Amino acid sequence: MPGDGAVRYYQENGKAKALDLETSEDEKRRTRGRSLRKKAMTASTKLTHSLKRRSSRRVADCRYAAISVNDVRDAKEEAAVNAFRQALVTKDLLPPRHDDYHTLLRFLKARKFDLHKTILMWSEMLYWRKENGVDSISQDFVYEEFEEVQRHYPHGYHGVDKGGRPVYIERLGKIEPHKLMSVTTVDRFLKYHVQGFEKAFSEKFPACSIAAKRHIDSTITILDAHGLNWMSFGKVAHDLVMRMQKIDGDNYPETLHQMYIVNAGSGFKLLWNTAKTFLDPRTTAKINVLGNKFQSKLLEVIDLSQLPDFLGGSCCCANEGGCLRSEKGPWKDPEIMKLVHAGDALYLRKMRSLSDEEDIDIKLYSSKTSRSEITTADASPNLRQNDFTQQVLPEFIQVRPNQWRPAADRSAFDSVIERHVQAANQTST
Ligand SMILES: [Zn+2]
Repeated sequence: MPGDGAVRYYQENGKAKALDLETSEDEKRRTRGRSLRKKAMTASTKLTHSLKRRSSRRVADCRYAAISVNDVRDAKEEAAVNAFRQALVTKDLLPPRHDDYHTLLRFLKARKFDLHKTILMWSEMLYWRKENGVDSISQDFVYEEFEEVQRHYPHGYHGVDKGGRPVYIERLGKIEPHKLMSVTTVDRFLKYHVQGFEKAFSEKFPACSIAAKRHIDSTITILDAHGLNWMSFGKVAHDLVMRMQKIDGDNYPETLHQMYIVNAGSGFKLLWNTAKTFLDPRTTAKINVLGNKFQSKLLEVIDLSQLPDFLGGSCCCANEGGCLRSEKGPWKDPEIMKLVHAGDALYLRKMRSLSDEEDIDIKLYSSKTSRSEITTADASPNLRQNDFTQQVLPEFIQVRPNQWRPAADRSAFDSVIERHVQAANQTST
């Protein structure tokens, strides 16, 4: 129905499409200036209301909304996230960059939805990030010794699984701990490791979400134990692995979808069967220890073309120095990365229209931008919705390839709009 329907635009196979969403009355109410806390309360009321209607719902994920990313939410989980979020807002523990539904949910899952324990874990994570300058580590830290480290510790992301998740591979049997420690230090290696996680969240997961059209924030990990000699692993390597696991578990929880340890020898299998009895069943359920007949298991979850030849796949990335150096994946696709960088949160919405193709009042805003920063563009009758997504938006993404903030870039955006409106008017006369 014109007037109260909200429309979201997205790109699919190069063509722009529009999707009707639920009524925007609630949105309009929320656009009125309110404190963050009040917003959280409103969301809670709205949530309770929606819970009565259905047990699970499909919502638009605002982070990648320039394209369609399906995001099916469970009603119970959503209620828990909302309560957690309100508690964090009250305690002033929710910086905007971490105010994300899926992030909050991962922490809740890591503490089995115990609110008190989750808040403690969350505040420790914030403290750890501050102490270690993690917010800016992607820009600040340069790992100059990467090439040498890669030689003594072959590892990297390569392709996606059948669900669209990034596949991370380590060739454990080729690790040379002493040589590794002669080219880097434990502290620098850990920084590099953290930087890798930050990049996964800022680039790989968003790119995979766009490519797979669903929210993705976990990986498949394959550890190849071929040739591994546990005795040569050494104390330093052991400590390093332990410290890495602590960092991951404390600060990047629930990011492992499944782990496959392949080419595991009989000794390791024996050890694993004993260790399993001491570990959390939720963790052991994610870890698959396989011998040398692992190919069929891997091919159940990963396509042949996405799997390196040394793991029984058909890929060798010959022109890029091998699979572990190629960084093959959606995050290498320039078109997808344009959306990731520019569309950190492009969200198009038709707020008002007299008919489908006339007098369109388009609002562009970011989920991470306060409502007062919303940029409004009154388009002419001749500038149609499809023109907007097919011409204006791509051009804007091109002129502003980096992180875009509507308020700061308003004049640039307005001039692009104006030019297209003029062009559209000329064409029609
Ligand atoms: Zn490859």
